[in-house]
Amino acid sequence: MDDRYSRQTLFKPIGSSGQENIVNSHVLIIGCGALGSANAEALVRAGVGRVTLIDRDYVENSNLQRQQLYTEKDVLGQLPKAIAAKRHLSLINASVEVTAHVMDATSHSLEPILNDVDVVIDATDNFDIRFIMNDLIHKHNIPWIFGSCVGSTGMSYTVLPKETPCLHCLLAAAPMFGATCDSVGIISPAVQMVVAHQVTETLKLIVMDRSSLRNKLVTFDLWNNHYQTIKVGRAKKTDCPTCGENPTYPYLNYEVQTKTEVLCGRNTVQIRSGLKEQSLESLAKQLEKIGPIKLNPFLLSIEYRTYRIVFFKDGRTFIHGTNSIEDAKRIYYQLVG
Ligand SMILES: [Zn+2]
Repeated sequence: MDDRYSRQTLFKPIGSSGQENIVNSHVLIIGCGALGSANAEALVRAGVGRVTLIDRDYVENSNLQRQQLYTEKDVLGQLPKAIAAKRHLSLINASVEVTAHVMDATSHSLEPILNDVDVVIDATDNFDIRFIMNDLIHKHNIPWIFGSCVGSTGMSYTVLPKETPCLHCLLAAAPMFGATCDSVGIISPAVQMVVAHQVTETLKLIVMDRSSLRNKLVTFDLWNNHYQTIKVGRAKKTDCPTCGENPTYPYLNYEVQTKTEVLCGRNTVQIRSGLKEQSLESLAKQLEKIGPIKLNPFLLSIEYRTYRIVFFKDGRTFIHGTNSIEDAKRIYYQLVG
């Protein structure tokens, strides 16, 4: 082996055998925003063999302040985040196999890609997906590293199926998950702090140094100089529907797969059609008389009155400029009939 990973293998808890584990591991990162891109970059640099990325969004100007993988060129090209991330990650470390999925994370879309995954990293921004993940990782027995940040604050917790409390249990014990929208803003060090915890816990799991895992919920506020780790082991409930003795995995069993969704803090509504794939070329022909369009292999965007509408190849549509599902549906049907 060349000296690419020499500083990492010199670190005793990893060593050359740990590096071998890292090269043979597969990490799934759900979300390619601020947390997702920083986690992905660190793990790709560390030499993780396979990294799978999922994200439903594309790169926008307001992302560049903290989403470290993306460039102004990605904004101009309106590239989906998963695609842009994969391109940049391949330039950083060509030996890592990066798989990018431009899609919604749902129980249906996630379950088929959990095969062979060693660790799942939570880089989402909403609890709907987190509760689906909470069920899935328990069903498939995969460690999962929760992370969230807003303003100058953040928190992280490592969920180990059959050992630690799950997200349900944690929420019941510590109802501290208040702000989830990006309406109060965020500074990038809060992202980095969460990522530092997530990546370190991931490496401990991959090199099988379980005795070094934190086992505590960590919360911090960088601006107000607060750092706390909280023992939450006793929060685990034996009758929990996800991690208890008789799990029912409630978030996989009923339809939480809403067709329309207001995207938190974005003034945007997502509409998911029944289509598995929509032809962007024929949409382009249909819409070119209506307003200026931009087309790339992954999405088509059009300006229409005060709205911007983005059609994704996988059948989803974003209506930017409204928080009203009724308005969004009206615009959508006006355009596509
Ligand atoms: Zn539980």
